[in-house]
Amino acid sequence: MITLKEALQLPKEELEEIKKDLIKKAKEQKELNAYIALDSAGEGVPIAIKDNIQVDGWEVTCASKILQGYIAPYDATVIEKLKSAGCAPFGRTNMDEFAMGSTTESSCYGKTLNPRDPSRVPGGSSGGSAAVVAAGIAIAALGSDTGGSIRQPAAFCGIVGMKPTYGRVSRYGLAAYGSSLDQIGPMTQNVEDAIILYNMIAGVDERDSTSARVPFEPVVPNADRKLTIGVVPNYVKDASAAVQKAYDKAVAALKEAGHEIVEVSLMDAKYDIASYYITAMAEASTNLSRYDGVRYGYRAEASNLKEMYKKTRSEGFGEEVKRRILLGTFVLSSGYYDAYYIKAQRVRHLIKDEYSKVFEKVDLILSPVAPDVAYKFGELKSPLEMYLSDVYTIGVNLAGLPAISLPVDEHEGLPVGLQLIGKAFDEQTLFDGAMSLE
Ligand code: GLN
Repeated sequence: MITLKEALQLPKEELEEIKKDLIKKAKEQKELNAYIALDSAGEGVPIAIKDNIQVDGWEVTCASKILQGYIAPYDATVIEKLKSAGCAPFGRTNMDEFAMGSTTESSCYGKTLNPRDPSRVPGGSSGGSAAVVAAGIAIAALGSDTGGSIRQPAAFCGIVGMKPTYGRVSRYGLAAYGSSLDQIGPMTQNVEDAIILYNMIAGVDERDSTSARVPFEPVVPNADRKLTIGVVPNYVKDASAAVQKAYDKAVAALKEAGHEIVEVSLMDAKYDIASYYITAMAEASTNLSRYDGVRYGYRAEASNLKEMYKKTRSEGFGEEVKRRILLGTFVLSSGYYDAYYIKAQRVRHLIKDEYSKVFEKVDLILSPVAPDVAYKFGELKSPLEMYLSDVYTIGVNLAGLPAISLPVDEHEGLPVGLQLIGKAFDEQTLFDGAMSLE
């Protein structure tokens, strides 16, 4: 597939040809179930869009029955920015319902297959975006990352996926899951394309109150910088042999490129899981209260208003989403708020402080993305097992840091990804490091 960089140089007519070709190939690969629809908006370089980002006039469903039929009345800021940079949204990609999941199995449209091995999950929740790029049926895609949903599917499908610093990219027009964690980011064939797409979508936005009022300087790739990179033995020891082998290989490559490697340690990641799942579910329970059958999408037949709310939400939400609304409501309820929610916020601060301390000594941290390669369908046996599998990605969201997942190795024909984690608002250094791991 042509890269984003190359596509941006092409005249309009050739882009139209490429779009036709994409549609043809996407139809041929229908069994992947990676695109929900092949909508296209305007002229420009086609970019695939996760189905939780609003494109004016398109249906946007977050892969949930409760939103089916809902048409976005405006463009998300990232979409406006793409359009003004010569790109055009093309295709809505499949995802876990409301971005809650790590496998893209909970979509109301059915699961997406991993193009590298259809008996395995593509990762999630942005599994559709990762799969279309990996399968060569998209030039590049946008995903969203609340607790790893860009980085982990990128690792499972063998592409590049980047989560910006919290507040760096506008959330205006992104359906909220965990508002203090969510970020939109690029999913691409290579690091250079990730930089291009990131530069297009980043920047201050008055329409998003959580957009960081930090001046944005576009990243200029510089693969020659020598950096200090932290390695985390106490994290890596719990990963699979395939991930450990990839890690050793990456460390050797970084040394070879002239970077200094320093051993650091991070707090036991079991605290990340506890803090993240309480925070994310609490925020989800309040964010999803807006889907009441009145304002958006699906509405159940009922004889009075209360029954209509109840039936709409019972029929419209899937099992995982309901589980999270219930747990989130529980941790926010009186009597439990201090015991769970407040405690989770205290732990979140400790995690953030811990990263700050490590970043006094290093420029970047090298970490696994997932405990292993892509899982077989059905391999994760319970919701809890799925939550535990997010162990390496969620700390980054709790601390609001930027990170990039890169394919660094292969294991029995499957890609193995690792991530670099950077200091807040220092995407430049993050990408510089990423260039030398490619
Ligand atoms: N797997 C995590 C969750 O289910 C992260 C999802 C995401 O980043 N959107 O919450």
